[in-house]
Amino acid sequence: MPFKLYNALSRKKENFKPLKGKTVRFYACGPTVYAFVHIGNLRTFVFDDLLRRTFELNGYKVKEIMNLTDVDDKTINGAKDSGKTLKNYTSFYEKRFLFDVKALNILPAAKYTRATDHIQEMIKMISTLFKKKVAYKTSDGIYFNISKFKNYGKLSRLKARELKIGARVRSDEYEKNNAQDFALWKFKKEGEPSWAAPFGEGRPGWHIECSAMSIKYLGMPLDIHSGGVDLIFPHHENEIAQSEAAYGKKFARFFAEGEHLSIGGKKMAKSLGNIFTLRDIEERGFEPLDFRYLTFTAHYRSPLSFSWESLSASRNARKKLEEKALLAPKSDAKVLKKFKMEFLAALNDDLNIPKALALVWKARGRDEILYADKILGLGLDKVKKVAASAGLEALLREREVMRRDKKWREADLIRDKILKAGYIIEDTPQGARLKRAS
Ligand code: AMP
Ligand code: ZN
Repeated sequence: MPFKLYNALSRKKENFKPLKGKTVRFYACGPTVYAFVHIGNLRTFVFDDLLRRTFELNGYKVKEIMNLTDVDDKTINGAKDSGKTLKNYTSFYEKRFLFDVKALNILPAAKYTRATDHIQEMIKMISTLFKKKVAYKTSDGIYFNISKFKNYGKLSRLKARELKIGARVRSDEYEKNNAQDFALWKFKKEGEPSWAAPFGEGRPGWHIECSAMSIKYLGMPLDIHSGGVDLIFPHHENEIAQSEAAYGKKFARFFAEGEHLSIGGKKMAKSLGNIFTLRDIEERGFEPLDFRYLTFTAHYRSPLSFSWESLSASRNARKKLEEKALLAPKSDAKVLKKFKMEFLAALNDDLNIPKALALVWKARGRDEILYADKILGLGLDKVKKVAASAGLEALLREREVMRRDKKWREADLIRDKILKAGYIIEDTPQGARLKRAS
């Protein structure tokens, strides 16, 4: 069955297959480790995971590389403000990021590559661009000359008139209506970390790290490169330009970018002050997997609006799904086979996860649900049945007290604990009682 995936390069759904053999060489843009990642960032990382798991369900192996941006304007400023060294500052957020990855059942990348561990690879690439006269030197750094790369703008469809030929941008981020030559290397400034280089001591610009590291570990062309939509321009556009100008080969065969998580009609972004982290949602009594479920309620190329109500609905749905997984009987072999085909077909249609999820809700057998969990990653196989104990009876009584006091949230949490232990609660006119989940 072909796997149809939207390719941002062609703006069409194309049949995806790895170029060489059975291994997908996959590069996903990772976080800038200057703060806790927010659930907007995490929507993109769950999307990467969905993509990865779908490759695997199609029988491919995946070699996934994800970068950690640990040197750029934001990390340097953050370290300065907190009086820490860059390494000290970023390694804290790096750990927290990997913690969130685990909590969300995101399969770990083959390698998480730090920008600061690959400065030499970046210097080599900049030297090549310099020799090819695609890069030039100014008083503050080395810049990429976008007018020397004729395909500049092919991913984001920038028209020639939108390009500001000869203008330069120092900052790591800039607007689409302001396409300019971008910094590959920034010369040393007082109080900033720097590395020696043949063209002058300094530190890399943002974009060069992803080209240098993806090419080092995966080779050109990558099978696929992913990230959030805001990366299409300038980040991915600049990665294409540097890589193809340096090595004269296609950089990546597919680009897949996930839409944003929004809140109150606006993109969730640190700069807008409208973010929530995983810790924030846990403090309100949610589990990370409730958020994972929420991301599956929308297609990855559609915006998803976050609200506490939608997160609550996802929590309830996830709990019901756990209950369903626990109570479902063994599957009929024929039914299971049909389910597998339909489930894979939904995912192979450009990752139609809302449709795949709807199939799970219709499924009756346990094996269908467990098969689906290879993609859903909700730990449905871990919901176990154990013998009732005095502890569970005590929990049941505690829940009764909570319900009497109208503490519904607390009561629900206790119900979940009991469910995890393999029992469901029957509310009868004589009061609640435990029933072993069959
Ligand atoms: P950053 O740490 O800023 O480099 O972002 C890490 C990843 O999160 C990138 O792939 C971004 O495109 C993505 N991202 C940032 N904000 C959002 C959002 N509100 N919704 C979805 N993805 C986002
Ligand atoms: Zn990147």
